[in-house]
Amino acid sequence: MKSKTCAYCKREFFGEVKRTAEHIFPQTLLQLYPEQDVSFTPEKIFKDNSGLTIADVCAGCNNGALSELDSYGGELIKKQFKDEIDYDMKDAVIEKTIEYDLFAKWILKIAYNYFRSRKIECSFMEEYIPCILQNVELSDNFDIFMGLHINTTPVLEEVYNYQPLQICENPKLRGTSIGIEFLFKLPHNFNSITIPENESTLAIRFGNAVMYVIFWKKDCPVELKK
Ligand SMILES: [Zn+2]
Repeated sequence: MKSKTCAYCKREFFGEVKRTAEHIFPQTLLQLYPEQDVSFTPEKIFKDNSGLTIADVCAGCNNGALSELDSYGGELIKKQFKDEIDYDMKDAVIEKTIEYDLFAKWILKIAYNYFRSRKIECSFMEEYIPCILQNVELSDNFDIFMGLHINTTPVLEEVYNYQPLQICENPKLRGTSIGIEFLFKLPHNFNSITIPENESTLAIRFGNAVMYVIFWKKDCPVELKK
C-alpha cells in the first residue's frame, strides 16, 4: 500500500504536495558508474541503471534538502573516492577533506531510504529526520566509521566482482584485518564481533569509500558506544 504522507516532512500528498520517486542510490552516484548493475540485495539486481527508487517523498523534500545532500555527496565521491586505489598505495597516507555534518546527513538519508525500500522497521530513524531536513544539530545516537576500499589482490576488481555501489545491512564484523564483510553468507563465524544494543548496522560502499554505520538503541549506555 502506498504511503499517504511524505516520509520526511509528513505532509499529506495532495494538491501542491506532489509524490515523487527518490533514489536509494543517489542519481549523482549512478551517473559516476554508468556501467554498473546496481545490486544491493541478494534477491534483486537492477540492470537498467535507473536504480531503485521509493515513491513516498514529496517534491519539496526531494528537490530541496535531499537534493542538496546528494549534490554534496555526489561531488565528494566523484572528486575524492571515485577510482580504485592501487595496491601499492596500501601503506600510503591519503588525505581527504570531508564536511562531517553534510556527509553524515547524506548517509543518514541514504540509510533511511534503504530501510524503507527494504521494508525494514525503521521508526528509530525518526529522530534523524529534523537533522536531515534542516539545520538542526545531529543526534549522537549513531556512529559512522569510514575507511578506504583497497583491492589487495593482484587482479583488477573489474575482472571478477567490481561493485562500487553497495549497501549491506547488519554485515558481519571480524576481529582481524579482514574487517567488514559485504558477503551475505559466510562459511563460518571465525573471530566474529557482535555489536550490542544496536537497532541496525549498515556497511556502505561508494567508490573506494567504505562506511560502517551503527544506529544505537535509544537507551544504550554511553560506555557501550566507545
Ligand atoms: Zn516532504
